[in-house]
Amino acid sequence: MRITKPKYYDAFRCIASECPDSCCKEWDVQVDETAAAYYRKLPGALGDRLREVLKEEDGETVMTIIEGRCPMWRSDGLCRIQAELGHEALCKTCRDFPRLIHDYGDFQELGLELSCPEAAQMILEQDAPEYVSGECHGNTPAEYDEEAMEVLLRTRDRVRGILAERRRPVEEVLALVLMYGYQAQSELDGAPEADFDADAALDEAEQFAAEGDIPAMLDFFSQLEILTPEWSAMLESPAPAKWDSCHLTLARYFVDRYWLQAVSDYDLVSRLKLTIISCLMIRTLGGDLRRTAQLYSKEIENDIDNVEAILDGAYDCPAFTDDKLLGMLLK
Ligand code: SF4
Repeated sequence: MRITKPKYYDAFRCIASECPDSCCKEWDVQVDETAAAYYRKLPGALGDRLREVLKEEDGETVMTIIEGRCPMWRSDGLCRIQAELGHEALCKTCRDFPRLIHDYGDFQELGLELSCPEAAQMILEQDAPEYVSGECHGNTPAEYDEEAMEVLLRTRDRVRGILAERRRPVEEVLALVLMYGYQAQSELDGAPEADFDADAALDEAEQFAAEGDIPAMLDFFSQLEILTPEWSAMLESPAPAKWDSCHLTLARYFVDRYWLQAVSDYDLVSRLKLTIISCLMIRTLGGDLRRTAQLYSKEIENDIDNVEAILDGAYDCPAFTDDKLLGMLLK
């Protein structure tokens, strides 16, 4: 099996007590069956505590959050389970976080989640991350439509190339990503591979752009599930930032994370718009870009209901029509 990961992936280390946020705050941690069974039988004080705080919710075992924190969190920033039993005793969610594994059967792509502050720093300091690939033991068959995957891999390379274009203003590059994404969707639907004329696409985008509706976009996000008071406050008092090349790095992160997922249902457009909407929101909220992006990811990407609401909203939310998205970028 071929495994590809950004070069910085292996350098990630949790900074525990130094972390300005924490993955042990606010989130309900889902505990996998193996770990839950182990915790329920564990003798001693730690076992007793675990039995008190594990609860069943919608058929899943989750760790109850107490006063906004995981009850296993210690005041030195370390996890009690890890400190007393070692890393291997953690449940899968905590063992993996913030590592992402996209498994397609005969190949895997690894990455880091933007919702971890330390990972966010590593992600955002790379204009264009380098990737390393290697073979590992075991080979499972491809679990996807090979023709569709070939189109998605090829078009993702192309969109990465567009995002690497640093001579144009950031907002124009993002508009080009949106325009090219529609061409990529056509190719995914069976259209022949075609050239992409960026100048012509930009002219078309400028003509098509309508007045954007930032209040409607903010209103849409206000109605999603919200975890932290900080996020609510940002939604109420946005302080739009200037476009910055870091927004292209962010777009690259979203493309890397979501583009190939279209192989599951052939819907590239909603993932493409998720990328553009995410960049628009992070820029609209302003503040320290790294912190805003990390919080965005914590609030949105780590809540599957929120991600799905945006994927649906890409088609039915009036704020997210193509002309308005282009307007928010170009007008
Ligand atoms: S968010 Fe990241 S750096 Fe912070 S405690 Fe969790 S894994 Fe460590």
